[in-house]
Amino acid sequence: MGKGHSGWTEDPRDALRARPDFSLEEFDRGATPGFRGRKSDGKALGRQRGTLLSELQERLFAEGRIGGSRSVLCVVQGLDTAGKGGVTRHVMSMVDPQGVALHSFGPPTEEELKHHFLWRIRRALPRPGLIGVFDRSHYEDVLVVRVDDLAPRDVWEQRYDEINRFEKDLVDCGTVVLKFALMVSQDEQGVRLMERLDRPDKRWKFSGNDVRTRGKWNAYQEAYQAVFERTSTDWAPWYVIPADHKWYSRAAITEILTQTMIDMDLGWPQPDWDPFDMREELAAEMSSRALKASLSDTVDNVKSAIAEDASVQREEVEVQVEDGDVDGASAKAEERAALAEVTAQKAQRFAELTRTRQQKERLVEQAEARETLAREGR
Ligand code: ATP
Repeated sequence: MGKGHSGWTEDPRDALRARPDFSLEEFDRGATPGFRGRKSDGKALGRQRGTLLSELQERLFAEGRIGGSRSVLCVVQGLDTAGKGGVTRHVMSMVDPQGVALHSFGPPTEEELKHHFLWRIRRALPRPGLIGVFDRSHYEDVLVVRVDDLAPRDVWEQRYDEINRFEKDLVDCGTVVLKFALMVSQDEQGVRLMERLDRPDKRWKFSGNDVRTRGKWNAYQEAYQAVFERTSTDWAPWYVIPADHKWYSRAAITEILTQTMIDMDLGWPQPDWDPFDMREELAAEMSSRALKASLSDTVDNVKSAIAEDASVQREEVEVQVEDGDVDGASAKAEERAALAEVTAQKAQRFAELTRTRQQKERLVEQAEARETLAREGR
């Protein structure tokens, strides 16, 4: 979280987290907490974050492939027009499609109604290595169900605790749970619904139900307040996002997801074979021409890997230093220690690079000798 360059003056996880004293009534939905700058700054920052987020997602995916158990689940809630769809598409567009799994939850089907309310949720959880995104979720079972009296009070009342326990189990099994509530103001919702009516290309998004739901505004605000009070836990906190400015809600969610994944300390999985041995095996089947081409790519390949690693590590250093409740002097010491680690790793990579190049030069020579022998028919 660079102080000067990034636009975030405060970690949005701190600025937006629903704490026990959170009051939705006092919440300013047009504000941009923790962010310094305008729409264009927010958008530019988002694009910049995309590169890092996609790198982190690939690391998570790789970890899942080799038997890791970690995943990320983003729960996205909000009333109509709050921008759930836009945010979801935006976040998903920044990462490799094979690494994300999106699920939207509408009214339960007949089959789903026969089961416990968490049944359909469990079936949609992200597999290890994936980022799961829920567009609506199990929270509908304490929102619309509560507001529309779809179940008796004693049934939905006990669901808050059930949800907390369910999410605790998820977290214990390796899923990082992020919950985003997009909160739009009543005025802005009116404007957005009106726009849907005005524009022929947006009318498909409108349903008469939207106006009926809007009529229950206060009941929904109360239901959301209860959700924040009762289910914003240490292990799965709610982030309440002001949503009147779409650029802000997108930037905030992108940043929270990125920072969270930086904290997951995602490295590249270490294979249980030696690249030096494998290189020998592969080279035995390659022409000297291909080996020379590969030799000339070696430095660039390793340098890009080092550069990408360094960009993740640079962010880690900043997060560690800003997270630590430390005074200036020890922050500096922590920063120095973390940077020393980055430098040591870099030196190790360069040492390996030298050995790799020597090995490849030898392999080129061997291939040339092999080809000469073959040409001479020996
Ligand atoms: P959206 O409004 O999210 O853009 P949509 O208009 O396409 O979506 P669906 O996705 O089919 O509609 O369904 C959303 C509706 O499903 C919402 O009105 C929501 O309240 C309702 N819903 C979701 N979960 C439940 C549930 N557990 N019980 C009852 N209704 C639910």
